[in-house]
Amino acid sequence: MILKNTRSVTLFPPSIEYVDLRIEGEKITERGKNLKPNRDEETINLHSKIVMPGLVNAHTHLYSSLARGMPAPRKTPQNFLEILHNVWWKLDRALDEESIYYSALVGAIDAVSCGTTTLIDHHASPKAIKGSLDIIKKALKEAGLRGVLCYEVTDRGGKKERDQGLAENERFIRKNQKNPQFRGMVGAHAAFTLSNESLRLCGEVVSSCKTGVHIHVAEDKCDVTDAEENYRMRVIDRLSSHGIIKKQSILAHCIHLSNKDFSSLHQAECWLVHNPRSNINNNVGHAPIHLFGERAALGTDGFPADMIEEARIGYLTNKEIARPIQDTGFKKRDASLTRMLGNGQRLVSETFGEEFGTLKKDSVADLVVVDYTPPTPMTSENLPWHFLFGMRSAMVESVMVGGKWVVKGREVVGVDMPKVYEKAAKVARKLWGRVEKLRI
Ligand SMILES: [Zn+2]
Repeated sequence: MILKNTRSVTLFPPSIEYVDLRIEGEKITERGKNLKPNRDEETINLHSKIVMPGLVNAHTHLYSSLARGMPAPRKTPQNFLEILHNVWWKLDRALDEESIYYSALVGAIDAVSCGTTTLIDHHASPKAIKGSLDIIKKALKEAGLRGVLCYEVTDRGGKKERDQGLAENERFIRKNQKNPQFRGMVGAHAAFTLSNESLRLCGEVVSSCKTGVHIHVAEDKCDVTDAEENYRMRVIDRLSSHGIIKKQSILAHCIHLSNKDFSSLHQAECWLVHNPRSNINNNVGHAPIHLFGERAALGTDGFPADMIEEARIGYLTNKEIARPIQDTGFKKRDASLTRMLGNGQRLVSETFGEEFGTLKKDSVADLVVVDYTPPTPMTSENLPWHFLFGMRSAMVESVMVGGKWVVKGREVVGVDMPKVYEKAAKVARKLWGRVEKLRI
């Protein structure tokens, strides 16, 4: 097909060009002015609507999608560890195969409706580990999304659960090594719930599968103090000694780290993921994103995958604390958040070994049509501010993943939404009942 008269936009480096795009199979095969349709080729005139590369959620937990509105614990959690113990570690233990599926499907529908085309998910369901990543894959496929999946290895449920988690990662990674829509990684909860033996085992799977680890790092101070008090090491050095800190690895949060830690991470070329809404919600502190460097992306950590909202809140939070942001490749300091969104597409390019996020010839056709008419001049220089102050995910009109429309005219293609939501609400009620029992 040919998408005629697009206002093609990339977030980083910021660019705007009025062009036609030819899509064949999974890719953009031509980009230029006045492309002539071949016989049998569909032409869609977009009348200068914005076309931008599909957005990437670089760290999330689809398993929390059915927690929306769940009754709170009787005693309000007072700190991060209590939030984990009384909310998330009860919820994940209550998940069964049906609730894993509906959590993932509801989260995927949220994501794709907001123009998010790839989810990098971190899953936990200690009572249904084996095959859980296939259930999430099935749900993402149904909504048409791309996924990078992993199972959270941890010691909190004992050795048997830990080993099942490791096996689930390895099985999924090997099965999807050449899958154009899905890839696996080794998931690990956080250093403070993993013994040296468990970290070593994660490192071994990483090395034999030639992949990276997706892990929470220094989200709360407890992760840093655990390493110092129990292992006499900086948390980054401890992870590094087990082969976790490497180029393909994704480190979520990175709040309580020192300058020295950040230079080790930059040297290893890890991906660092900022999760502003979750950081505020859990009151874990402000991430020093001025130290995150060039390989920083944005995640929602369980909040709906609305990346426009995430970027806006990240931008405003950073303004509130008035922390200077070092320039890394773009002169205007406030563009950091949109740069992080563009970086999510670079992360996906490295993971799949294909080009994403450029809308160039031969790049993968993951794209979003946004019905945004700029009421003021829009240039590549001021694009980040149109994005942060003017665009809303409700303006996402259509979404394409791998050359196929997955959202058209604001409808998720092939998904019977009323039916899915009705069933999801029933599944959520049963899930909440099981959570209540675990809280007694
Ligand atoms: Zn997380």
